[in-house]
Amino acid sequence: MAMMDVQLNSWLLFDHAPRHFGTTEVVTHFGPEGVHRYTYSDFARRTQQLMHALDQLGITKGERVATLAWNSYRHLECYFGVPCSGRILHTLNLRLSPAELGWIIADADDRALLVDLDLVPLLERIPAADLRGVERIVVLSERVPDSSIPGLLAYEELLAEQPASYPPPDIDERSPLGLCYTSGTTGRPKGAVYTHRSTVLHSLVASSAAGLGIGPQDCILPQVPMFHVNAWGMPYAGAATGAKQVFLAGPLDPRCLVDLLFEEQVTIAAGVPTVWLTVAEELARRGHRPPALRYIIVGGAQPPRSLIERYQNEFDIPIVQAWGMTETSPLGGVAWPKHEMRDWDAERLTTTVRTQAGLPVPGISVSIRDAAGVELPFDGKTMGELCVRGPWVIDSYWKGAGSEQFTADGWFRTGDIAVGSPEGYFVIADRTKDLIKSGGEWISSVDLEADIMAMPEVAEAAVVAMPDPRWQERPLAFVVLRSGATVTLEQLREHLEKRGWQRWQLPDRVQIIDAIPKTSVGKFDKKVLRGREGSVS
Ligand code: ADP
Repeated sequence: MAMMDVQLNSWLLFDHAPRHFGTTEVVTHFGPEGVHRYTYSDFARRTQQLMHALDQLGITKGERVATLAWNSYRHLECYFGVPCSGRILHTLNLRLSPAELGWIIADADDRALLVDLDLVPLLERIPAADLRGVERIVVLSERVPDSSIPGLLAYEELLAEQPASYPPPDIDERSPLGLCYTSGTTGRPKGAVYTHRSTVLHSLVASSAAGLGIGPQDCILPQVPMFHVNAWGMPYAGAATGAKQVFLAGPLDPRCLVDLLFEEQVTIAAGVPTVWLTVAEELARRGHRPPALRYIIVGGAQPPRSLIERYQNEFDIPIVQAWGMTETSPLGGVAWPKHEMRDWDAERLTTTVRTQAGLPVPGISVSIRDAAGVELPFDGKTMGELCVRGPWVIDSYWKGAGSEQFTADGWFRTGDIAVGSPEGYFVIADRTKDLIKSGGEWISSVDLEADIMAMPEVAEAAVVAMPDPRWQERPLAFVVLRSGATVTLEQLREHLEKRGWQRWQLPDRVQIIDAIPKTSVGKFDKKVLRGREGSVS
């Protein structure tokens, strides 16, 4: 006896919503240009038209089709239209420089490119030599703009000519579905390849209650770019479960985001901590919470405890932390409380659960190891490198880059320094390259930042290692103050000492700046800060 041999390919996710959730809406907010709404039935028809259009353009199975686009319903159509017809979806990060984009397009050997109308000027700045292999460029719009790039095609014109249904092709579940490059904070960006199988399994677990908890009763708003690890898999999980989806196209507009949380009755929103730091002020102005919002998923970097507490106490909105990375599709852990904790008070829950990065989701194994590869205990204090394995963790990079990140016994070395807790959770103490190594001891820059951000005078803080002839490295704090506030180095050190830090762990210098520079996906950009170290007085 055996089970039916159903291929775990993207049709399994695609088919479901139009069949059973045909009237459920997908909403895209385009800022001043207004709101677009349609249903999963419309989505399914247009996505199949896209599959035909790709056939007509001569893009063959297995070739890369890149997107350079904001979050929108058209991008969602690409998420399915490209892989469901056997091509590989390559989402490009629109915040990269033209030179970086060119390098990545050439490395991925992209054959076609689907680009938003307002991003055509960015495309025009990409070195022409890097675009040599790109045979077709489609503008995600009704029309093509005047452009120095010849032969642009209009998406809507292409789709209009196509039949509304596409026969599902045979797609091996182990064939590639998507390609996503890491941000390249260490060396060149590397491509992570997702397969149909890995994406289906990831979507099922992401939608489960141990994952992001997405179901038919939900309206999801991923404020995570669709070019950043597939918006944490939410568009796939949302379509697979028939959740209503809401997209905010374009850069973050806090007022607009909060309007959408209210007007569309959003139940689950998600984004990196800096998004929610910005949105907090807007929420405070409204005076009451978005009525349907169940919780906010926060990941990609550690949210400061003060942020978690503010959302809980002031807005009555739980923040649920998740951990993941491009190489893990991304979901690795989500910090849900356990049943046995149901009577715990808020303080204890925040300390033990909400400030942790995650509890491994089903299917993901976690091992924290020392430099020699020996597994360390989950004792709440010992730091080591987080290693993970699972069906949606990559086992190699595109074109074999970065092989040193895989251990001989089949684990992926994340480059994150983690501490496991006796309750089974783990927290990210730092990234290997950000950890401060002082006099043979390690200091977690992430923990220091979180405690500095707990000062009422401080809006944002980032801590980097400063080379030191005696101690090897020492912590240097960059601080953004709330308007009208002041903080001296002595006050900062005193505050940290009160919170249990030892004197040798305290920053020797603090620099007040106007804003912490952010990376292309909205995280604190420590590379830029390290570059500024020399200018410190
Ligand atoms: P990058 O940050 O280099 O652009 P990713 O977008 O893949 O790359 O981000 C993955 C990294 O984000 C992880 O390796 C980890 O350092 C950090 N991260 C993700 N979730 C959390 C979390 N909950 N707490 C702390 N750090 C996190």
